[in-house]
Amino acid sequence: LAHRGSGLLTAGGRQPAAVHALVHLMNQALGNTGKTVSYLRETAVADGLNDLQDLVKAMQAGQVETLVILGGNPAYNAPADLDFASALAAVPSTIRLGLYEDETSAACTWHVPQAHFLESWGDGRAWDGTVSVVQPLIAPLWSGRSAIELMAAFAGEERSSGYELVKAGYGEDVWRRTLHDGVMAGSALPLETPGAGGGWIGGDLSALAAVAPADEALEYVFTPDSKLHDGRFAGNGWLQELPDPLTKLTWDNAALVSPILASRLGVTDGDTVQVQVGGAEMELPVYQMPGQAADSVALALGYGRDFGHPVADGVGFNTYALRRSGAMHTALGTISGAVGKYTLSSTQDFHAMDDRGAKEVQDRAEEFIREVEADAWFHDPEHAMHGGHKLPDADLWDPLKYDGDHAWAMSIDLNRCVGCAACTIACHAENNMPVVGKDLVDRGRDMHWIRVDRYFSGSPEEPEVRFQPVTCHHCENAPCEQVCPVAATTHDDEGLNVMVYNRCIGTRYCSNNCPYKVRRFNFFNFHKEESATTKMAYNPEVTVRARGVMEKCTFCLQRISQAKITAKNEGRKLKDGDVVPACQQVCPASAIRFGDLSDDNSLVVGQRTDLRSYTM
Ligand code: SF4
Ligand code: SF4
Repeated sequence: LAHRGSGLLTAGGRQPAAVHALVHLMNQALGNTGKTVSYLRETAVADGLNDLQDLVKAMQAGQVETLVILGGNPAYNAPADLDFASALAAVPSTIRLGLYEDETSAACTWHVPQAHFLESWGDGRAWDGTVSVVQPLIAPLWSGRSAIELMAAFAGEERSSGYELVKAGYGEDVWRRTLHDGVMAGSALPLETPGAGGGWIGGDLSALAAVAPADEALEYVFTPDSKLHDGRFAGNGWLQELPDPLTKLTWDNAALVSPILASRLGVTDGDTVQVQVGGAEMELPVYQMPGQAADSVALALGYGRDFGHPVADGVGFNTYALRRSGAMHTALGTISGAVGKYTLSSTQDFHAMDDRGAKEVQDRAEEFIREVEADAWFHDPEHAMHGGHKLPDADLWDPLKYDGDHAWAMSIDLNRCVGCAACTIACHAENNMPVVGKDLVDRGRDMHWIRVDRYFSGSPEEPEVRFQPVTCHHCENAPCEQVCPVAATTHDDEGLNVMVYNRCIGTRYCSNNCPYKVRRFNFFNFHKEESATTKMAYNPEVTVRARGVMEKCTFCLQRISQAKITAKNEGRKLKDGDVVPACQQVCPASAIRFGDLSDDNSLVVGQRTDLRSYTM
């Protein structure tokens, strides 16, 4: 009320239409509509669920002779009560276009390999309706077809290539201009300002009463997984092994419960419980999550696959089996006490920077993450500098001399970091890191060069969460270097702590002596027996490490070299921003800055001189 016309209310995508209608009315009443909130009319509204229900009925009644499925994976993730897989078996001819052979492909007569969007021509609309053309980056690796190419073939179209099909929708001039600009000028949809009655923002408010939980019931919330989404990425080992931003679980999903509910049930992390939702029953491991509402259980979708895939099969639990068409986002159900045990691999307590044991790291979080309320900060802007221990005046070693042209450094703004772990996965892709699997992750042998530590503070009911990406600090007098018996890890003249892989004999002394616990060891040869496609995914600029060799963040040395070569070819000096490590490149919050400390005008120097800046 105090901010009429400048506030904003939103409702989560899982909320029923009635809640969205209420939020619309509230924005309207607060004068936000047309100022902070604007509306677009959907151009193609499909009622997916009702259409699917009608289709399944027709399939069961023998009214469908040929079914073409473009993408999706309904045999796996259609609402359980529809039993799509059985209905599919009743259709004489079934054709599935898909990126992967999965549960739906296995149940169809034909599987047509689909070209990836990076291999195809297409077009689409941005959030505001602006039309843009999708251009392929490479020719299809395995002769895949896009959906428009397949449909054109069925329709007897003369044009067969995706390029011709997309181009035909534009005039020659518009096509050239759109390709050149990347977007079609003037194609944004007009904004609309619906009235309070709305009409097209519908929703039956009485529906809200139906979701109020009964005394004994818990609310189960189905969520897309933070990594596998709806399961479409289950075959991607990078994502399976990426720790979830909050739970830090790898290679699994679990029933997320509040610590209060866990204590009420007498269960702890890794205990399995029997859950009953919508007439279906399933045994699931529980994992406690501060901030989870006490009467609510979150279930990530996308796991529990069974389609003969070497990575996806048998990982986690198929919670789609609990999801019915009447309750796609939330459902009421019950939960038992502990009925068994299950191993969950959460990386949060690995690589603890503390000699008192991993569990006590949480106690020291305020040393690692120096934090103050904004009001207090204005009175004490040097707050961040007061924390931590004071360095002794004398050092056993001489200060490091930077003899090269640069002094590379990284700074991460914790105020900006949202803990998404995009930096971790970008580093994984850029630097040819292996995927080691759940068993080895459980032994603390995950290979990520930049991890994102997560700390909770406050009460379990209303916690606050902090994220802290931790990578090699490229310490000036690096503790790892001092203990390496063969000088396999050394400093270069630009301040980088580098690894000489073929000199490393694998004593792991360096890892033991690293205070930040950022070194990773190749316990096995993780790169043998890889498919041709997997090999194609490797970055040719980065060595693939062998068994028995230590590895860690290089500050993307290959990108530094590339930037130097480019600058040299252009006859100029390297300038700030020329070198962008992979983690910095993908960070959606621009939290990571990298640059040259010897350049006073560099962004990284700017961040270092910020009063909020401290070294960990
Ligand atoms: Fe410092 Fe550890 Fe990096 Fe060595 S590996 S430079 S000790 S952070
Ligand atoms: Fe934080 Fe950026 Fe890394 Fe995401 S990508 S975890 S926001 S530093």
